[in-house]
Amino acid sequence: MSHFVDLILPLPLEKRFTYSLSEDEASFVQPGMRLAVPFGKNRIYTGIVAEVHQNPPEVYEAKPIHQILDEKPLLTKEQLKFWNWIAVYYLCSEGEVMRAALPGAFLLESESIVKLSKEVEIEDVELNDDEYLVIEGLQRQSSMKIQEIEQLLDKKKVLPVINKLVDKNLVSLNQEIYEQYKPKELRYVRLNPAYEAESQMHQLLDELSRAPKQREIVLSYFGLTAKKKNALKVKDLLKETGASAGVLKSLLDKNIFEEFHRETDRVSFEGEITNHSIKFNEYQQRAFDQINSNFQDSKICLLHGVTSSGKTEIYIRLIEQALEEGKQALYLLPEIALTTQLIKRLQNYFGEKVLVYHSKYSLNERVEIYRHVLNNNEKGRIVIGARSCIFLPFQDLGLIVVDEEHESTFKQFDPAPRYHARDSAVVLGNIFNANIILGSATPSMESYFNADHNKYSKVELTRRFGNVLMPEVEVVDIKTAHRKKKMTGHFSERLIDEMKEILKEGEQIILFQNRRGFSPVLECNTCGHSPQCPNCDVSLTYHSHNNQLRCHYCGYHIAMQHQCMACGSNEISTKGFGTEQVETELKALFPDAKISRMDQDTTRGKHSYEKIITAFEAHDTDILVGTQMLTKGLDFRNVGLVGIMNADNLLNFPDFRAHERSFQLMLQVAGRSGRTKKRGKVLIQTYNPHHRIIQQVSTGDYEGMYKEQLEDRYQYHYPPYYRLIRLTLKCRDFSKTNDAAEWLARALENVFDRYVLGPEFPPVARIRNEYYKNILIKIPQKQSLGKTKNVIHRILNSFKAIGAFRSVRVIVNVDPQ
Ligand code: ADP
Ligand code: ZN
Ligand code: ZN
Repeated sequence: MSHFVDLILPLPLEKRFTYSLSEDEASFVQPGMRLAVPFGKNRIYTGIVAEVHQNPPEVYEAKPIHQILDEKPLLTKEQLKFWNWIAVYYLCSEGEVMRAALPGAFLLESESIVKLSKEVEIEDVELNDDEYLVIEGLQRQSSMKIQEIEQLLDKKKVLPVINKLVDKNLVSLNQEIYEQYKPKELRYVRLNPAYEAESQMHQLLDELSRAPKQREIVLSYFGLTAKKKNALKVKDLLKETGASAGVLKSLLDKNIFEEFHRETDRVSFEGEITNHSIKFNEYQQRAFDQINSNFQDSKICLLHGVTSSGKTEIYIRLIEQALEEGKQALYLLPEIALTTQLIKRLQNYFGEKVLVYHSKYSLNERVEIYRHVLNNNEKGRIVIGARSCIFLPFQDLGLIVVDEEHESTFKQFDPAPRYHARDSAVVLGNIFNANIILGSATPSMESYFNADHNKYSKVELTRRFGNVLMPEVEVVDIKTAHRKKKMTGHFSERLIDEMKEILKEGEQIILFQNRRGFSPVLECNTCGHSPQCPNCDVSLTYHSHNNQLRCHYCGYHIAMQHQCMACGSNEISTKGFGTEQVETELKALFPDAKISRMDQDTTRGKHSYEKIITAFEAHDTDILVGTQMLTKGLDFRNVGLVGIMNADNLLNFPDFRAHERSFQLMLQVAGRSGRTKKRGKVLIQTYNPHHRIIQQVSTGDYEGMYKEQLEDRYQYHYPPYYRLIRLTLKCRDFSKTNDAAEWLARALENVFDRYVLGPEFPPVARIRNEYYKNILIKIPQKQSLGKTKNVIHRILNSFKAIGAFRSVRVIVNVDPQ
């Protein structure tokens, strides 16, 4: 009898590909294992076994496989099922899911580049001859291709050798240079133990009598460590004594003090578990009980709790519960880089059971986490991370937490699979029959709608923990303020007064501005020209720190212009404003305050984000100016005022979700204010003080916002009433883009009639010299999603068969955000 295997290959192929197996191979191979197989011309790929069977393919002759890479399946059957769901739902190939789902180190192929891992000691590892040769080769040249290794070892089948080396953590594959995630380190000093005894201590102080400044530091050290007898942060010591770093250095040089570093945030937790018992307040207890009783008959619960109501503590208890039942737990977050505070909280509670899965980690670290989860180890019982975590090989998942479930970054934008991690997590949870908790202070319309229609259960938490009041919101009408000349730059008199008050009281301020950069565009007052990017259809934006005009889409930049490039006039002004300009104005208004800025431009560097946050937490900064980034899960104790510089550019964004998003964003930023006893304050500057959304933010009226927006969505046929699929065509040729879009839209209209919108150019219709055009398909609730997708699929296949449109790419986005 002949044996065959269907493989998922990491390529955008529509179907699985069938290979033949020998009798021996067939008795060994199981679904979820990796096989190396030839594909196309002389290329080797890693494929995943989806099915072993006896049916030869109909249209081609099955080739034999190259070799088997695993001894045990690397994927569970639940994962295979899940991959298939993603591919079908998001209209992409299983191969594309595979690329997104597996750490690159698992995807050995003939094009793979092999490099030595930096972090390893080769002397300590046992190697066989082949492995030794490869390592030795890699010590001579920095990287090798698989073919070169084949020549080196003088054999054809080298992938198992590489595979072993990857497992031993000695080499890495396909690395773009991944930034090693290194936790931030703090400087500490401690007294040389030689001086610890009373007598030595006195002798030391005597010796230092002629160096009074050094003596003072030593005395302060004794004072500060009296109770704990341990080390001190350098920063604290210097602050206490007012001494200079030079004086401390003398003490270090004399070996009186010893210096060392401690990490503030650890990937793998080594500290003590500090927080053993949470005592809920009555509202948390009630919510917790309700959630549990809801889980009895419905597996998905929406937790709608205002900011700082203690949702995280509830998640922790739910996780604990899942662990007690011997199950695994997954904690999904919109953006991992922004959540060191939360990770610390979980690690304090669960210790090394928590693993963080981070796209910034090296491939090898990701492989390690993958294996922990696959083997259902104690380590990795709880995985916390951003969207790609849903692809880990869970064995027995008991709980999924989706924190800040409203965040649009849960949706992958590019490349395929363009999946929504929240929605996919719901499906993953169903596969395991796991409990799912979606939490937010400002739920997405979709989730709230689902709760409204009893698809999800819902639990509310309406009070902040510890009786902290919700902040008081004041709306400042800047139209009137401008007219009455009560504006200084972009600051109203009200905002300035309030800021002065807060600073006087020693509290901190957060200012939110939705744009980065200084002043988005330059405009000629004479002819109206603004400098454009030659590659994209956008104006260049002005960045004052390097005096450049930059394109935010492709990075093109030129020096700042002082004459109009079109008419030569000197009358150039800047239109709109961003975080950088707010910062500049602030420095003039509050010359004594310590100001820092957080946006994409200031957080590019390694750990720059953490530095900004740590400085703000330590109150080294008085005022923090920033974009959206500020809204994400930060818990600052001492913020007395949040200022929203301009609500209008949020509200006026051309998108059907703009109002919902503005509400969420403003309420989340507002939630950063007043997290302790004293009531916090929020000032919103706007040209439209009577806008419904502004009013709803002022009163924290989620329900009102929801009802009103829902009516609009109903009337204009948008989610949650209608589903959307967006097709984006792109091509370097303008008229081809147009023709192709027309053809596709007509073909779709033949079937879906008035539910096809466009083709239309998006707001930025050309990026990196490619033209873009969108077609939107609306799907009414009662129309079958499966059938609709089949039709789209068929039409796309006919489209691809048209020679003239060969250079046009079509991107399919299901549930675009
Ligand atoms: P949310 O996630 O709803 O924004 P958090 O869980 O972060 O709220 O709680 C807000 C603050 O209150 C945190 O500093 C947290 O440590 C504290 N807190 C919440 N619940 C408790 C509790 N039961 N006991 C002690 N402190 C709590
Ligand atoms: Zn001009
Ligand atoms: Zn550009």
